[in-house]
Amino acid sequence: MKKILIATNNKGKAKDFETLFVPYGFDVQTLNDLEQDIDVEETGVTFEENAILKAETVSQMLGITVIADDSGLEIDELQGAPGVYSARYAGEPKNDEANIDKVLSELQGVPEGERTARFRCVLAVAGPGRETATFSGSCEGLILEERRGSNGFGYDPIFYAPEKGLAMAELTPEEKSQISHRGAALRQLKEQLPQLLDLLGEGQ
Ligand code: IMP
Repeated sequence: MKKILIATNNKGKAKDFETLFVPYGFDVQTLNDLEQDIDVEETGVTFEENAILKAETVSQMLGITVIADDSGLEIDELQGAPGVYSARYAGEPKNDEANIDKVLSELQGVPEGERTARFRCVLAVAGPGRETATFSGSCEGLILEERRGSNGFGYDPIFYAPEKGLAMAELTPEEKSQISHRGAALRQLKEQLPQLLDLLGEGQ
């Protein structure tokens, strides 16, 4: 089976990538599957900078093609926060439940029409001897007043997806990938680089 390495330690993201790549016959591996510990510090101020940083650093360390994902939630009422700080919005160590509590308390009393938000995702593909490519996707929605559903990860329980009439965390992985920021970025990647799926399998 062809392997694909995703430069992430995030099990929730890994699941999303599995949903997207397994139908193409790929075994999805993440940094958790490697013997060495790799944790790239995200020092960029945009999703794109961080995705490129993660993909290029891991690709250079291992000498293979790597896909990295940088993503997060932008809430209009909070001037785009938590943005690139989504993973650690409530501080260290990163904690999805504490992040959700912080967002809910900051949006307390904000009416439904002003709770607009979007997930954004940038994917970077870096490999030896090739220029790094990036692909992006977004998903518009509303921040709920309380948690709904138990699927997914991160802010999924408080993100209402109008296209499905449900919270992200109420969707199956397949339904989420149809409308999600990550699904959209990956479809872009596939459209623009039809040969990429073959290249990714080589020598890995
Ligand atoms: P990073 O890309 O590893 O910096 O972290 C992205 C953070 O954004 C995650 O830890 C989540 O808090 C949030 N996030 C990104 N994508 C999703 C998603 O699909 N659902 C819910 N939260 C997400």
